[in-house]
Amino acid sequence: MQRPGHYIEGLDLFDPAWTNPDPVLALMQWDCVSECKYRCMHETLGRFLDKGRGVVKFYGKWPFTRVLGMQELVSSLTSFGNAVPHAYYLLRRDAYAPREYYMSLPLLWFTLICINSWFWSGVFHARDTPFTEAADYFFATSQLGYSVWMSAHRMLHDLTPSSSRLSAPLLLVLLSLYCYYIYHMLFVLFDYGLHMNINTGLVVTHYLMWLVWAFLLPTGRSRPYRFYAVGFLTLVLLAAACEVFDFPPYRGIWDAHSVWHSLTVPMIPVWYFFWIEDCKWELRGGVKKRDS
Ligand SMILES: [Zn+2]
Repeated sequence: MQRPGHYIEGLDLFDPAWTNPDPVLALMQWDCVSECKYRCMHETLGRFLDKGRGVVKFYGKWPFTRVLGMQELVSSLTSFGNAVPHAYYLLRRDAYAPREYYMSLPLLWFTLICINSWFWSGVFHARDTPFTEAADYFFATSQLGYSVWMSAHRMLHDLTPSSSRLSAPLLLVLLSLYCYYIYHMLFVLFDYGLHMNINTGLVVTHYLMWLVWAFLLPTGRSRPYRFYAVGFLTLVLLAAACEVFDFPPYRGIWDAHSVWHSLTVPMIPVWYFFWIEDCKWELRGGVKKRDS
């Protein structure tokens, strides 16, 4: 009798010693089970297409064509691409985070957190495993949560320099919530819906904070460069709207998610333009004026 796993030539799910004969695929951890799933998916998809049915999702994900062992080539490369502007500004940190500027350390951490988060996004899109998926989710949330804290820290400083003392307890609260979120995802339920709700809440909170600062608070309204911050966040939200058009991957590699990741790469410098201008403004006299 034919055992499950034998219906694809060269694959034996019962052979623990099986390694992928293709060295690149072996390097990318395509073991027997994942290789079997991938080939079965495309064989099934081929039959659907032969019968005139459209492309369907498998286990909630579009069927991508892997390239050099990378599952979602474009999303992976563009995720790494998103880390590049951050890495560039890390090298130019004197422009936006010099030591004299009170946002120096928070901004440096922001850049490092973003590089880390985009790196793991690139790894996850290259190879979807439970580990890389968790890393992508957790670090994406770390980037959004940290952005909310860093922005609050900056805005609190506008009230009076002493009000930025509230930043430390706020950071503690956000860190505790972050730890609880990781605990829940790892040990209670790995809930994609919860993850998305938290991240959406953080994105909306962050956007509203900057809208209030730029258009309602006198400090923000007096800054001509406020449009860099609002413009950047608006563009990112518009790019994220691409996800609404959740179309199947064109030629097996271009899907809506990859378009959204591609669009954000050239937007990132705009966020740094804001901090460069803010740094100049604050060091030029804003801080001195408030302290006197
Ligand atoms: Zn992604």
